[in-house]
Formats: sequence, C-alpha cells, structure tokens
Amino acid sequence: MTPSDLAFDRSHIWHPYTSMSQPLPVYPVVGAQGTSLQLADGRTLVDGMSSWWAAIHGYNHPRLNQAMTAQIAQMSHVMFGGITHPSAVSLCRRLVDMTPAGLECVFLADSGSVAVEVAMKMALQYWQARGEKRQRFLTLRNGYHGDTFAAMSVCDPHNSMHSLYQGYLPSHLFAAAPACRFDEAWRDSDADDIERLIAHHAGEVAAVILEPVVQGAGGMRFYHPRYLQRVRTLCDRYGILLIADEIATGFGRTGKLFACEHADIAPDILCVGKALTGGTMTLSATLTTRHVADTVSNGEAGCFMHGPTFMGNPLACAVASESLAMLQENQWPQQVADIEAQLRRSLLPLADHPGVKDARVLGAIGVIETHQPVNMAALQAFFVDCGVWIRPFGRLIYLMPPYIISPEALQRLTDAIAGALEQPGHFIGA
Ligand SMILES: *Cc1c(COP(=O)(O)O)cnc(C)c1O
Repeated sequence: MTPSDLAFDRSHIWHPYTSMSQPLPVYPVVGAQGTSLQLADGRTLVDGMSSWWAAIHGYNHPRLNQAMTAQIAQMSHVMFGGITHPSAVSLCRRLVDMTPAGLECVFLADSGSVAVEVAMKMALQYWQARGEKRQRFLTLRNGYHGDTFAAMSVCDPHNSMHSLYQGYLPSHLFAAAPACRFDEAWRDSDADDIERLIAHHAGEVAAVILEPVVQGAGGMRFYHPRYLQRVRTLCDRYGILLIADEIATGFGRTGKLFACEHADIAPDILCVGKALTGGTMTLSATLTTRHVADTVSNGEAGCFMHGPTFMGNPLACAVASESLAMLQENQWPQQVADIEAQLRRSLLPLADHPGVKDARVLGAIGVIETHQPVNMAALQAFFVDCGVWIRPFGRLIYLMPPYIISPEALQRLTDAIAGALEQPGHFIGA
C-alpha cells in the first residue's frame, strides 16, 4: 500500500466507531496466515483478537480455503427464495445437531446484528400469533447485541447510543447486570432484580434477551451460570421466551461449545455469528424450537416476515459447514483448555499491578481491566512495536486468540500486556 492509499483511507473511509475528521491511525495489513497478520512494511504481528472472536482456526486455513474454492466452482450465490442448495442443508444439519437440545429450525442471516433483529421479530410474531400484546424485551445492563436499531435498543443504555437516539428507540426493561462472578460462590440475591422485573412486567414482556455467561463488548464480564438457570426457570414460570445471544460465545470460546452449556439450559431462540464461518465471511443464524416456529407460522401473516437478498449465501454456507466440521473433530476442547491454563498463569498475577482493577480468564478469553481508560492509539502503537495485535477499548485490554495459537505466540501476547503495564503513565489514564 502506498502513502497515497493511506491518505485516501484517512479522508474517505469510515472504520468501526471512528471519526472522519479526527481519524485514529490504521495499520495496513496485506496478508494473514495461521496466527499472524502481515503488515505492508513486512513486519508480522501475533494475532490476539481472532478478528473479533471470528478466526478461531487461524487465518488462511487450507481446509476453509478449499471449501470456498470448491463452492466458487459450483456457484458463489443463488437466491434462497424458492431454491435450496447442498451447502445450506449441510450447514443447517450441523447447526441443529450441535446446538442445545430443542433448537430445530434455522434462519440464516447476514450478520450478528441481523440475527438479533430476526430473533426479536420472531418473539414479537410469536406473541402476535398467540393474540397477546407483548412487545417489550427484558435484558441486562452491560449487554451488547449489535448496532442495528432493534439490537441497539437492548444494548446497555449508558455505554451505548441510547441518549443519541432518545425518542427513537423503543423503551425496554433493563435488569441489573449479574454481579456474582463465574467462579464465585453463588448468591441467590443476584437474580432478585430480574425476578422483580419479570414478575412485575410478565404480561408485556415478549422475551428476555441476554448474552449467556460472558457479557462481551459491554464490558467483558463473566457471570455465574446459576444466574442463567434462574432466568430460564423464571421465563418458564411466566411463559416468557428466552433468547440467548451466543454470537460472541458460541463455538467453544468459553470452554463449552455454547455458553448455555455451563448452565445446562437451552434457550427458545439462539443467535450465532462471528466464528460461524471460521472468520472468513459474514454469516449468522437464528435457531428456534419447533414450538416457536410453528406458532409464528400459524399466525396471521402465515409466515415469518424476513428474507434478506443474500440469505443462505452458498459461499458463506460452504465455509461455515467446513468450519463446524473442523470443530466436530473435537480438537478445540484441549486447545481452549490449554489457552485458558496459560492465560491464568500469565494474566492473573497482573491483577496486583496498581493500574489494574481486575484480571480474569474464562476459556480462551483473557481480560485485564484497568482503573482508568487506556490511551488506545498510544497503546495500540506500543503493541504493534512489540509484534502483537491487541486492540484495547475503554478500560479493557483483552485477548481472544485463535484456538490454534502456540504457547510461544500466546506468551508474546501476554508479555506485551505485562510490558505495557510497566509504563502505566504512558498508556493508562489521562
Ligand atoms: C458482535 C456481536 C453482535 C453483533 O454482530 P455483528 O456481526 O457485528 O452485527 C451481537 N451480539 C453479540 C453478543 C456480539 O458480540
């Protein structure tokens, strides 16, 4: 990439959550292989992000490439209205097979946010079909469910965009975020607030929507699985649907194939995305039970009212099916367990650092929470100089590496974080 390419980028191209007038630096990447990203200047970086939870098998994987090449030779795309194809069937079979019991009907969508929109529309159509006016959603503070409007309306009202869109977003119900940590002794009082809200609003709540066990972009918090069990029980008691957003947690990241398995529960509606295609293409899916699907289908509309142009894209389905086939070969439990053990050894001791508020690890996720917000641009540059790709935000420096990472590469990531904490004045706080 030439300097003029970078200048063009700066003045014409939006990046996620950035300013067009004060853009932060971006790093030109020209290749990615295994767990490394190759910069245009020839340097390589160890990847600690899996491109936001997605590239679980590493980059440029020959089997994923082969699945896409073979599909391109057949057809890259065909409409899904009135047509089906082998890659969609193969993928959906695997999804029905590997997700928690009872989830039998699959809606293929384009991105995580759209999978959440679809889940919320399913819940609304479900209650409409049953002749009940239930149009509110109940969710947790510190949650994150995506950037489209319905998804945004159930994100944490403070650290998302609620104030910007006040008057435009529907007003939903927010329970206190679970306080009891994943590895603490369970306290029954943790579920008091959601229990109170459910009891008080039962007749108007269509569904509870939450991220099971790990609250991702809203704070990288790991909460107690008993909370999830309580919510399942409460939803059953009041006939409320439970939507599990496993877009970040799905496919092994937390040490279980799906985070719901930590609590041994199944939702009525499940959203998956991110790692679904092994980080190669955008694709998501919303799964539901036969009961929800039948109820929706027998409603006034006679069908579920959603159908994106690129629904069931064959190229994305083919590579997703291959990625799930690789998971089903079952290397991931050991890989994730090894990453977890190493992250515990190297990150948890950093909790003693004066700038650090908390260090926590679950599965292949490691988090350092600082007292003060980090200086993202300076810290990012420091990490690149250390030869690692770690993208901090707010008060969080976190790792979620590809499952195939070697112990040496993982050590480079954790050493870089430890190195940054040695110079807190440079990177943390105002
Ligand atoms: C990333 C994410 C989404 C949104 O997915 P996109 O593909 O970015 O639209 C929704 N829910 C959770 C839990 C996520 O982590």
